[in-house]
Amino acid sequence: MSSCQVCSLKAGHPGVVLDEQQVCNLCNLDFASDLLVNYRYTSDVFVEFQQAPPATGTDYDCLFMYSGGKDSTYMLDKFANEYGKRVLAFTFDVPFESEHAARNIELAKAKIPATFVLDADDDNIKLMMREVFNRPAPVKPGKYLDEKLPCVSCRTFFVLRAILMAYREKIPYIALCADPQQILTMQSNVREVVRDFYRTFGERLTDTLFGGQLEELLFDDDENLPKIVFPFIAMRHEYDPDRIVEELRAKGLYQSSPLETHCTLFPLLNLYSFKNWDCMFYKLNAASHVRSVKRNADYDRNTFSIKFPRSLDLADVEARMGEVVLAIAAGEGDPDAHEKTLVELFQRMDATEDAARFVAKSFLDMRQTAADLGIRLS
Ligand SMILES: [Zn+2]
Repeated sequence: MSSCQVCSLKAGHPGVVLDEQQVCNLCNLDFASDLLVNYRYTSDVFVEFQQAPPATGTDYDCLFMYSGGKDSTYMLDKFANEYGKRVLAFTFDVPFESEHAARNIELAKAKIPATFVLDADDDNIKLMMREVFNRPAPVKPGKYLDEKLPCVSCRTFFVLRAILMAYREKIPYIALCADPQQILTMQSNVREVVRDFYRTFGERLTDTLFGGQLEELLFDDDENLPKIVFPFIAMRHEYDPDRIVEELRAKGLYQSSPLETHCTLFPLLNLYSFKNWDCMFYKLNAASHVRSVKRNADYDRNTFSIKFPRSLDLADVEARMGEVVLAIAAGEGDPDAHEKTLVELFQRMDATEDAARFVAKSFLDMRQTAADLGIRLS
């Protein structure tokens, strides 16, 4: 199969088209005009939010989606301590995530003057994930991000929970700390987020998952709907993950972990993207990294939160990872050999040995994780 000469994305990757020179539409910046529109919109909304007087009829100026990760901790501190906003810090307890973010949340509670709420809905988010994974193979050629559908759906699920809370409490803004690379992956309009979800999951399942509450948002006036603010995208020129960590450490707001935001579904997310789209889960991120390195010989800065080594033979790493992932899912091959291969591959992608071992173990447990959730692997 042919792949992009610059970033190595394959011809069949959802949303990717190669031209006669074998260069893909992402490398050709076909999204440039969309990007400009998105950037202008997010910048305008952010300025509007910063200049807005305290909201009336509610106790909060914004609902802040707070994960406990470095990006959102950094920005929550700014919102409350620097901008003087009255913030409702909203954390959704994702049942698939490891719990170490909880420590950072405790540190934040002690030092950041905000109201903290913890939301959860294990049954419905699991029901949704089961449905996504157990669907028949998707129709080709697919659209941008289809290879990440389970992950995108999970994030959308808790963004919708936050939207519903802001809507009920009449909080005018929702802050979402997507990193600047995610600009093309996020809907900025609340009604569009709701519509997309209905499109993906259908009316019946959507109404089951949200108890019929989303429908009201489709028909209410614009002025009654919260607006989504993306502070990192608005401030993209200043985004520097290493400096963020440094500042947070100095303030005693952060304890890093080599397994930062580890999702227990990561092996299954990879199985999904290999099985349906013949690519690894982080392919777009890795391709974007390869593109930046090729375009700029001095490239040494991260503009998004996942790190990759400077030189990376992406095609080779991906092919070997795909073989192992599909073998584990099928219950084939020798687990020790699989583990050894995975540890080596993750280390080549810049993981420490500890982190590589931890993640490799979770891949070996893939069949059990799937069985626990009612996900069929065959
Ligand atoms: Zn490309």
